[in-house]
Amino acid sequence: MNLHEYQGKSLLKKYGVAIQEGIVADTPQQAVEAAKELNAQTGTEWYVVKAQIHAGGRGKGVVTETGSNGVVLAKGLDKVEGVAAGILGGHLVTKQTNAKGKKVNKVLIAQDVYYPGESEPSEFYMSVLMNRETGRNIIMYSTEGGMDIEAVAEQTPHLIFKEEIDPKVGLQGFQARKIAFNLGLSGEAFKQMVKFVFALYAAYEGIDASMFEINPVLKTSDNKIIAVDSKVTVDDSALYRHADIAEMRDTTEEDPVELEAKEAGLNYVNLDGNVGCMVNGAGLAMATMDIIKLSGGEPANFLDVGGTADAERVEKAFRMILKDPNVEAILINIFGGIVRCDRVAQGVVDAYKNIGDIPVPIIVRLQGTNAEEAKRLIDESGLNVLSAVLLKEAAQKVSEVLS
Ligand code: GDP
Ligand code: MN
Repeated sequence: MNLHEYQGKSLLKKYGVAIQEGIVADTPQQAVEAAKELNAQTGTEWYVVKAQIHAGGRGKGVVTETGSNGVVLAKGLDKVEGVAAGILGGHLVTKQTNAKGKKVNKVLIAQDVYYPGESEPSEFYMSVLMNRETGRNIIMYSTEGGMDIEAVAEQTPHLIFKEEIDPKVGLQGFQARKIAFNLGLSGEAFKQMVKFVFALYAAYEGIDASMFEINPVLKTSDNKIIAVDSKVTVDDSALYRHADIAEMRDTTEEDPVELEAKEAGLNYVNLDGNVGCMVNGAGLAMATMDIIKLSGGEPANFLDVGGTADAERVEKAFRMILKDPNVEAILINIFGGIVRCDRVAQGVVDAYKNIGDIPVPIIVRLQGTNAEEAKRLIDESGLNVLSAVLLKEAAQKVSEVLS
């Protein structure tokens, strides 16, 4: 599960990670109140208004309706309302969203932490994640913070460092010091970075995170080390131990059809193509997507209806697929093992009749127990359903109806 920046920061703070302080707001008026409150807490007079969406690249992102960026400085209390109004309610398009962007329902009013002082502020990159090859957590970090880390990895990979943590002994002092040293720090900033790394790692373990990405980690002009941004992903399988974090789920950030599917017990992922697929088993679903591509189509979704493809589930799955306006054909590919093919075929016919007029052609391929009987059921139903026994045959029919 992904968290918003403000939610991630609140968890980091609990573990003693120094953060850029801020208060979240839903309206421009609330944003002004938040700024006043922040001023009372921190003394800051300059603010930065940050769109809260589940996507990065907000700073360079653009709000379609207003042309505003997703992260904007407000140098003075009188600027906050206008800046917030330019972001709230709009659709923010960034490198990580689609062309429609994501609706901004909340902004974080944060203190401006790039204030001038005895030294220049500098931006670092730091993430914590699992190295699946070694089964150990690693801290990845770089002096090249604040920018697109993928570009750094591609152009200057030697500027990205990795520190692997042995789970038996945990993060060691020498490792935290090595990180601070490699980031070129000394004196007070060095000490603060060591503290920061320890707190960050404790937070990562404490909340059962599967990924932290803090970009930038900032060294302020007065040598504090703080998290300016936070991208936190929590391991879904561990959410049962963190009721407070589970409550942070923002369903408006999730695909509404995927959410509905989850509630119906179907395994559904929306994709960009034109051929809807209904398959039992994840492996067969993958193979079916390959076949669709080979026959000149593009899968519109991944959908695993599971082992019990009865009439009710088939109907739910149909309705799910039909919500996608891009779907031009539906391929049903079911292997009847425990579930008999004729029952699935009957389910398809029943669902078809219940839903009424399905506006796209359907190709059904049933293989396994009672496959021949299933084919006969479909062929004799008189509905706009093409049946196939072989996968190759099904793929050919898909390309025929698409052309
Ligand atoms: P992202 O673009 O979604 O990664 O959002 P960030 O939270 O990382 O903010 C984007 C950029 O805005 C940062 O890389 C900083 O350069 C800038 N920024 C963030 N907070 C402040 C701030 O307090 N003051 C100033 N001057 N710039 C900031
Ligand atoms: Mn960032």
